[in-house]
Amino acid sequence: MSTVVPDQPVLTAQGVQVTFSSANSQLEAVAEATLTVMPNEFVGLIGPSGCGKSTLLRVLGGLMPPSAGEVLFEGQPLRGPQRKIGFVFQKANLMPWRNALRNVTLPLELAGVPLAEARERGRALLELVGLADFCDAQPRDLSGGMQQRVALARALVYDPAVLLLDEPFGALDALTREKMNAELLRIWQARRKTVIIVTHDIQEAVILCDRVIPMTSRPGRLKEEIIVDLPRPRSLDLLTSPRFSALAAELRRSLG
Ligand code: ADP
Ligand code: MG
Repeated sequence: MSTVVPDQPVLTAQGVQVTFSSANSQLEAVAEATLTVMPNEFVGLIGPSGCGKSTLLRVLGGLMPPSAGEVLFEGQPLRGPQRKIGFVFQKANLMPWRNALRNVTLPLELAGVPLAEARERGRALLELVGLADFCDAQPRDLSGGMQQRVALARALVYDPAVLLLDEPFGALDALTREKMNAELLRIWQARRKTVIIVTHDIQEAVILCDRVIPMTSRPGRLKEEIIVDLPRPRSLDLLTSPRFSALAAELRRSLG
């Protein structure tokens, strides 16, 4: 289990800047990002393509160091990837020769967890993401949405405190994406986590998040956040509510 201290931030970014340098050019990807994320919050980062969302998320997950500034995870400087921080990317990146279950158990197998225990945990997670009957399926036989469910189960395998989602449903068609949003709401309700999701979809940001932080175009800066005061637990029924429409309009205005 994760060691969540209720009133202590899980993740803090202080003056995070990222500049990519090569021999003859410099590209400023993230201009300045300061944010604090509390336990079990669901936070959205939204902005135009290329504005530095993925870069910022990678820094928040310890996958790359910032050029300036600092990230704290559970109060300590973040120095690299952590088991307590799970990632899901736009591409599921499943091992094509391993079935769904063995993709989920792979991190556990690599960590030396006995196979029987790994399989038990993997099965429970596939059940959680609605794939109980697909443990033996090969990735090529799964739809895009199902592959992302497997990736989500794999990201949950260490029971991380934080889940970082980088446009996890960005490659899916609109209807499948809506369905996955509903699934993610259900899973989050069942296994409370701190979640940061990167998206460029206004509807997705509003239906999922407690607050959404719009970003400017590159170099990305965080704009004033929008608090999403829709009641929880949420369902897709909210998509037709006046409050949802008002929040979506406010977010659209902020994105300009
Ligand atoms: P987003 O996720 O918002 O679409 P990214 O964070 O992927 O944006 O990229 C922000 C900018 O940084 C883009 O201009 C991209 O080309 C550039 N960039 C991203 N990763 C690298 C890298 N490893 N080396 C050089 N430039 C990069
Ligand atoms: Mg990106």
